[in-house]
Amino acid sequence: MNTPAYIGRFAPTPSGFLHFGSLVAALASYLDARAVGGRWLLRMEDLDPPREMPGAQAAILTALENYGFEWDGEVAYQSQRHDAYGQLIDRLFQQGLAYACTCSRKQLEPYQGIYPGLCRNAGHGQHDAAIRIRVPELNYAFEDRVQGRFAQHLGRDSGDFVIRRRDGLYAYQLAVVLDDAWQGVTHIVRGADLLDSTPRQLYLQELLGLPQPRYLHVPLIIQPDGNKLGKSYRSPPLQADEAGPLLLRALRALGQPAPAELHDATANEILGWGITHWDASLIPRVLTLAEAQLQP
Ligand code: GLU
Ligand code: ZN
Repeated sequence: MNTPAYIGRFAPTPSGFLHFGSLVAALASYLDARAVGGRWLLRMEDLDPPREMPGAQAAILTALENYGFEWDGEVAYQSQRHDAYGQLIDRLFQQGLAYACTCSRKQLEPYQGIYPGLCRNAGHGQHDAAIRIRVPELNYAFEDRVQGRFAQHLGRDSGDFVIRRRDGLYAYQLAVVLDDAWQGVTHIVRGADLLDSTPRQLYLQELLGLPQPRYLHVPLIIQPDGNKLGKSYRSPPLQADEAGPLLLRALRALGQPAPAELHDATANEILGWGITHWDASLIPRVLTLAEAQLQP
């Protein structure tokens, strides 16, 4: 069998319901995949049970169904991938590519998220410690399909980053890279809030000998006060009876000129139009869009 030329995915975190911003990301990844006859996978990023909202997983699947999305195959769950993550961390640790860090949050406060390497050569054991990956003092750059070239100097802009937290939970950066490769994902379409995670993910791909997918970061939908949707307060679930209008608004956010005839169309009709007319080059080349400006 030939390897499909395009495998995309949507990878929600069940810390809350889907909101309009997640709908925009889901829609973009769906249309980008289906417009070229590609596969579209769904992965539940349930890595952090304490921050999971009860009922969110089911509500996310229901909302996607109500909005007409059809994913290929079974939903993948990161909670079922712990063996793969754990084995990789042990290997990186044994090879000296990762190390244990016992720094407290308070100790790291002055460094504003850039780890200064305090435990790099301390030789701590894995017990009761975070595991950090060593990063090279190098630039990691890529050409985003919407945002253009994006580069980060890993030493200066990130520092050695956590791949397993001190409480034993696996980090998003590690899981996302491993799972995208495991699922054969060729194209990643997601919100621009993850643009500055991408260089760390490129480094992990290189280190692990994994293929590098193509990236497209869609504008992040923000509230009038500049906050990310769903972060400053819990957003309500996407209502089934709003599927049509919200899909049309999401198309508008993505720069796709949906015709007036779609006004009373069903979710499936709108997605069908979107697949046929998808043009990623029309997506606004900005990092954020204010939701208020998208009202009809
Ligand atoms: N789970 C992440 C989120 O909901 C998305 C991960 C990704 O698309 O790479 O923000
Ligand atoms: Zn440390």
